[in-house]
Amino acid sequence: MRTIATANGAHGAPYSAPIRTTCPYCGVGCGVLVSREGDAITVRGDPEHPANLGRICSKGAALGETLSLDDRLLYPEINGERTDWNTALDTVAHRFAQVIAEHGPDAVAFYVSGQLLTEDYYVANKLMKGYIGSGNIDTNSRLCMSSAVAGHKRAFGSDTVPGCYEDLELADLVVLVGSNMAWTHPVVFQRLVAEKKARPEMQVVLIDPRGTATADLADLHLGIKPGADAWLFNGLLNHLKREDAIDWTYLEAHVEGFGPTLQTVSGLSIPTVATQCGLAETDVATFYRLFTQTTKTVTVFSQGINQSSSGVDKVNSVINVHLATGRIGKPGAAPFSITGQPNAMGGREVGGLANQLAAHMDFTSADIDRVGRFWHAPNMAQQPGLKAVDLFEAVHDGRIKALWIMATNPAVSLPDSNRVAAALHTCPFVVVSDVVSRTDTSVYADVKLPAAAWGEKEGTVTNSERRISRQRSFMPAPGEVRPDWWIVNEVAKRMGFGEGFGHVGPAQIFSEHAALSGFENAGTRDFDISGLLPPASYDSLQPLQWPLTSQGETPRMFADGHFFTPSGKARMLPITPRAPMHATDQATPLLLNTGRIRDQWHTMTRTGKAAKLLAHIDQPFIEMHPHDARQAGVEDGALARLSNANGDMLARVVESREQQIGSVFAPIHWNDQFTGRGRVGALIHAVTDPISGQPEFKQTPVTVAAYAASWHGFVMTREALDCTAAAGYWTRVRAKTCWRHEIAGLEIAADAQLQMRDLIGLAGDWIEMKDAGVTRYRGALIQNGRLLAVYFLEREADRLPPRHWLESLFDRETLSDVERRALLLGRPGPGMADNGRIICACFGVGEKSLTKAMAEGATSVEALGIQLKAGTNCGSCIPELKHLLQRP
Ligand code: SF4
Repeated sequence: MRTIATANGAHGAPYSAPIRTTCPYCGVGCGVLVSREGDAITVRGDPEHPANLGRICSKGAALGETLSLDDRLLYPEINGERTDWNTALDTVAHRFAQVIAEHGPDAVAFYVSGQLLTEDYYVANKLMKGYIGSGNIDTNSRLCMSSAVAGHKRAFGSDTVPGCYEDLELADLVVLVGSNMAWTHPVVFQRLVAEKKARPEMQVVLIDPRGTATADLADLHLGIKPGADAWLFNGLLNHLKREDAIDWTYLEAHVEGFGPTLQTVSGLSIPTVATQCGLAETDVATFYRLFTQTTKTVTVFSQGINQSSSGVDKVNSVINVHLATGRIGKPGAAPFSITGQPNAMGGREVGGLANQLAAHMDFTSADIDRVGRFWHAPNMAQQPGLKAVDLFEAVHDGRIKALWIMATNPAVSLPDSNRVAAALHTCPFVVVSDVVSRTDTSVYADVKLPAAAWGEKEGTVTNSERRISRQRSFMPAPGEVRPDWWIVNEVAKRMGFGEGFGHVGPAQIFSEHAALSGFENAGTRDFDISGLLPPASYDSLQPLQWPLTSQGETPRMFADGHFFTPSGKARMLPITPRAPMHATDQATPLLLNTGRIRDQWHTMTRTGKAAKLLAHIDQPFIEMHPHDARQAGVEDGALARLSNANGDMLARVVESREQQIGSVFAPIHWNDQFTGRGRVGALIHAVTDPISGQPEFKQTPVTVAAYAASWHGFVMTREALDCTAAAGYWTRVRAKTCWRHEIAGLEIAADAQLQMRDLIGLAGDWIEMKDAGVTRYRGALIQNGRLLAVYFLEREADRLPPRHWLESLFDRETLSDVERRALLLGRPGPGMADNGRIICACFGVGEKSLTKAMAEGATSVEALGIQLKAGTNCGSCIPELKHLLQRP
């Protein structure tokens, strides 16, 4: 097989026909076509995939830029030294077996991920729950949707997402709760945008404390008080009753628990709701009127609901209003949990959550027996294991002595992440299976196992609408990397469990998974994909929505009004709203909300490799209202320290009137590999919903103070630098042809200029411009006419020049005299454009280019598209284009 080296660093053999696979990022689960065009791998939306119908977002479109091997873990390692697979696998098996023999099965744990393929997930769960005999396998999906799972099970008797994406297009009212869909699920948002354009009478209501990019589409934005959602939906339920909009026939036939539930909300008036939610009465009344009058309603809920110490109750308060009106199981009518990760749903299907068994079965004696018989399990777990936060607490206090982490980065993503790091540090044996060589988590690993990445492995994923799609490989695995299912199976065999883990490939695992879903099912369990057996068609499997029985696929659930409770009826539950666990006080007067940004994914291990995805937002930030910024003594663009008793982070202030007074927002993505002190997880209290175990990521009391930097600078180099020793604040940004490091510090050393040059560590001729003091310096290292490094230092940040045009100088084989002069002057010379911050990631269109085009007469999104192509590919930047157009 001939190896190709592509311009974007992908590896593999040439192929002519596009490979049909699935995007590895969010829960939308877009189908993509991967092809080699010229010398680059390109990724585009698959027009035949029902989830996206050819659409794609900025992250998906940039997948081709993330395939290089430069940061990959390619060989097994023990204690940081390369080893062979046999030694690594024997070590893992031996140490796990030893701990189990000495301390019992609950002294070991797996922490897995919604990034795993279903087949990987399946064998990991089988090994822990069926063969090791503990429930201690939990998944990072605990952090994003376990409240939805628990809410579904309480209401429906099963973890079932009733609707599908098409329902959003069929609805006359779409209510988005706690979701910045424009950035987090961009392709579903694009579908909604298109439908709204075709049917402007369709109404969209956004319920979110922040005015996000999603608000751009909303007819009504309810900027609700953080955490008050259950008040709003309880009030809605009472309003429906008052307005005689309850579907009593549906309730009598298909729902139980409605009497006490309606009693609980009785008397809850619009003024009371408005006060509790911090909303205008007229806005609450408008929302209630819209909901009351619109039969075809879909309510989409996401992390803003789930990530709460009362997340499950909030989920049920949403489901209550849909059950009360019979708006479920019908085209254009459903409560709709939209998941974060590409295979969060697949993880739920195989029992990746510690409190579930495989195939949507529970820890009941009947289910334990059934799964045990199916697996011929020698040591079936008898009770649920520890949920994520509790699991890491058990690592911290020494109850868990051997931990295997697969495809996730808990030292960044879990709450109280400094404590998680401490737990990993002290844990006697930590195994990390990952794609990348160094993460905040893998630095604590005793054994590192190189796992196959997207594009190198085969399997399936399930998206938010229950659609199972194939992921297909289009590159051979490099080095000695292996798929996760193979790694788990090999460890299982070495632990003496060969009879249960002899699968020859993912198709065989999928077949077993499908068979278990149908085993003694007969319609008693929602998850049934036995219709896919025998799996002769695994390679060509088309995207299908489960249940998949002999009757075919199922776009909508509960159309017949039958639910998976003992009575067959759905349950309404009385909900008493609860405030967030921790309240603000004098020391921590601001409420911290966390979430994603448009162009990054999780802890940036992949999206951080794509220069175009770091061109939009390149540093951690704290978004806050100008009023709060004034109170805190910080200003737009300045550095600030966000802190509470748990920890702190440094980030740039972004003033925004879309942020409520009293609350701030920070992104979840940055970590120690990209910045110093940028992990927002360090501040989050480890408090969770008592039922789901999902952490409260959205309401953490914090304080903000100025980070009084006395110097600011940036360094551009061809290789990444570790700036930890040189600067109090630093971020590392991958640009197209260089690395850029933004740096700042409280105090400056007398020889700072030389220190940084030492850090850069390259020999050559520096051309310089500096003042007599130590805080103005402009230097460039040029070798044989080629730019190797640029270093700027100033006392005030706003005296530093724009960076984007400087980055372009790294493209040149030889710098001209004009360019050398421009470089030191810090100004683009003639013919050297500074396009400003990138707004359109797909076509690299900068803010300055856009404002110039606007000044010259491009006064609409369409006109900007025609002139600069901005917004004409994935459309993710359109809300920002609109904001720019509206700017005075
Ligand atoms: Fe991937 Fe974007 Fe589709 Fe999500 S919306 S699956 S990130 S292409």
